[in-house]
Amino acid sequence: MRVLLIGSGGREHALAWKLAASPLLTKLYAAPGNPGIAREAELVKLDIADHAAVATFCKDNAIDLVVVGPEGPLVAGIADDLRDQGIRVFGPSKRAARLEGSKGFTKDLCAKYDIPTAAYGRFTDLTAAKAYVEKVGAPIVIKADGLAAGKGVTIAMTLDEARAALDACFDGAFGDAGAEVVVEEFMTGEEASFFCLCDGTTALPFGTAQDHKRVGDGDIGPNTGGMGAYSPAPVMSPEMVERTMREIVEPTMRGMAELGAPFAGVLFAGLMITDKGPKLIEYNTRFGDPECQVLMMRLKDDLLVLLNAAVDGQLAHTSIRWRDEAALTVVMAARGYPGTPEKGSVIRGLDEAAGDGVQIFHAGTAINGGALVANGGRVLNVTASGKTVGEAQSRAYAALDRIDWPQGFCRRDIGWQAVAREKAEAS
Ligand code: AMP
Repeated sequence: MRVLLIGSGGREHALAWKLAASPLLTKLYAAPGNPGIAREAELVKLDIADHAAVATFCKDNAIDLVVVGPEGPLVAGIADDLRDQGIRVFGPSKRAARLEGSKGFTKDLCAKYDIPTAAYGRFTDLTAAKAYVEKVGAPIVIKADGLAAGKGVTIAMTLDEARAALDACFDGAFGDAGAEVVVEEFMTGEEASFFCLCDGTTALPFGTAQDHKRVGDGDIGPNTGGMGAYSPAPVMSPEMVERTMREIVEPTMRGMAELGAPFAGVLFAGLMITDKGPKLIEYNTRFGDPECQVLMMRLKDDLLVLLNAAVDGQLAHTSIRWRDEAALTVVMAARGYPGTPEKGSVIRGLDEAAGDGVQIFHAGTAINGGALVANGGRVLNVTASGKTVGEAQSRAYAALDRIDWPQGFCRRDIGWQAVAREKAEAS
């Protein structure tokens, strides 16, 4: 099969690595890709926002399947525009991607289908939103409705913070994404990421993970796109997975089909495991980054076979096998992240650092004058597997410490909850 992968981050490098291992694959292209992905795929200079240009490339190069990594193109309707041209695509339609593209849409779906989630209100008017916030009280959560690159959520511990967050949204801090606001009840519990592979009718569980969003050790400091992750998530016991499927994912699949927008692709449920059971925080309609990296390390089956089954509506006849191992990834970021990262510093020693159950995925790298350089906030994902999360963690940090990149930094405690749990269980 000839495959085109859309995207350029660590998630896409992990997907490219796994796709490249498939005996079905004859040629892998990636647009725009990155220097790590270039080891697995031929990079093509395509403007991925220009769907007609992507379709022309697919036709000219006899592409059998397009795999879309990031949410932006999905919410913009790339899957529809390619399918209209007869091109097979793994990824949801624009209407199905509203599960990620509009938080208000998802909340209304939850209300209609009795899916457990935080109580909420939707507002396009500042005065009404402020009145709701005063009525409910703090802590309370303020969210820009649309895509805001993970930055549109404020956990307001006081009413003043809540009012300031509402002012910022309606003042255009998130552009069009904040023209509508969702105000939510503050939930407490342990968070987990739960993934399903979906074909419009059937959803198959596709692994669990936990990530670390804060920049600093001990989960302090500003939020980031994710500083590390591990899989599986201990809190997602078989019973919790079964409840999540029954109470959250299956009604969502049913609801989307009834709306005429059946969901096909990766459904990524951000969950709060509360004392009453799993509640939906939000949906994403693609793999998480860096969660994808740990899932790909653990996936035993051929990814390309599974994606084909999803595209062909065959998931009811498919099962997925996982390695009996944990995986953990540590993000190396460029100094300055999540503010303005320093670009251009030289990275050395990656080949010496990888190996022995370790993969180093590139997220924000570039080649400059023949040297590998930092070219973004999150730059590398040092990913390892092990019999336990603790073993994967030791391997990942041992590899990371062999990388020669003084301008990079990372958290030193990725996986701490799971490792603490493993230690408690062992004693
Ligand atoms: P989201 O972008 O919706 O996933 O929100 C980002 C983060 O904010 C989540 O990972 C949670 O840690 C937190 N969060 C979002 N909504 C809530 C909520 N209703 N209650 C508590 N925490 C929340």
